[in-house]
Amino acid sequence: MLKGKTALVTGSTSGIGLGIARALAAQGANIVLNGFGDVEGPRAAIAALGVQVAYHGADMSRPAEIEAMMAYAAITFGRVDILVNNAGIQHVARIENFPTERWDAVIAINLSSAFHATRLALPAMREANWGRIINLASVHGLVASAEKSAYVAAKHGLVGLTKVTALENATTGVTCNAICPGWVLTPLVQKQVDARAASQGVSNDEAIRQLLGEKEPSMQFTTPDELGALAVFLCSSAGNNVRGVAWNMDGGWAAQ
Ligand code: NAD
Repeated sequence: MLKGKTALVTGSTSGIGLGIARALAAQGANIVLNGFGDVEGPRAAIAALGVQVAYHGADMSRPAEIEAMMAYAAITFGRVDILVNNAGIQHVARIENFPTERWDAVIAINLSSAFHATRLALPAMREANWGRIINLASVHGLVASAEKSAYVAAKHGLVGLTKVTALENATTGVTCNAICPGWVLTPLVQKQVDARAASQGVSNDEAIRQLLGEKEPSMQFTTPDELGALAVFLCSSAGNNVRGVAWNMDGGWAAQ
């Protein structure tokens, strides 16, 4: 379905971004990976699906590096057809204790990076009159939790950016939507499970049961594969007129 298209997925060396990159590659899209840590494992996993893979290590908190990554993707594959703004970090602390440097980093990586990648991707998408921009927001783009001020502000901002991007391109073949997961068991969340297990003196399984029990009625994690399938739908022709939506996959979290 996506043969001949190119998808750039930020923060795709791990977790949800890697799951979405895999799902788009399985539909035939060439992939530009980005992110830190192990690159060869993700690169091999995508290449095994029979598509071309490239990697750029841009730090998504740095606009100049985002510009270099977008230029690299255009030189390598001609154009970015699908942009998935996924890179994200978390920091958990009450507002009065929130380190200002962590605030700046969360806003830069979770929100401003999407603005920069989007502004750089749009001209070629508009020229081709086809494009898909998918922003990995969160259920925290719709509702809040204590001790996550920067993350909740960034994700609410990302949902707003999604709507504006959708509106500004509404008469074209370029769509923009947000995906809003509840808990997904990735390294980002395992850190929160570990912190809870340590502070409560409970096992990993008990910490997970508490974490899900507080917020997620289904008591199940959403998986990167499920999120990948939603991204594939948004990239399909059935998604042509899905515009400016914030679509939660959250086990009922935001329904409460
Ligand atoms: P993760 O920690 O597994 O992966 C994050 C990815 O972003 C990694 O590839 C990492 O290398 C990359 N990254 C981090 N900082 C970066 C930077 N400065 N520049 C470039 N890349 C950087 O996290 P995840 O859980 O897969 O999260 C992916 C996205 O999904 C994030 O935006 C997160 O907020 C969102 N999300 C996650 C959950 C969840 O429960 N895990 C829920 C809702 C939304």
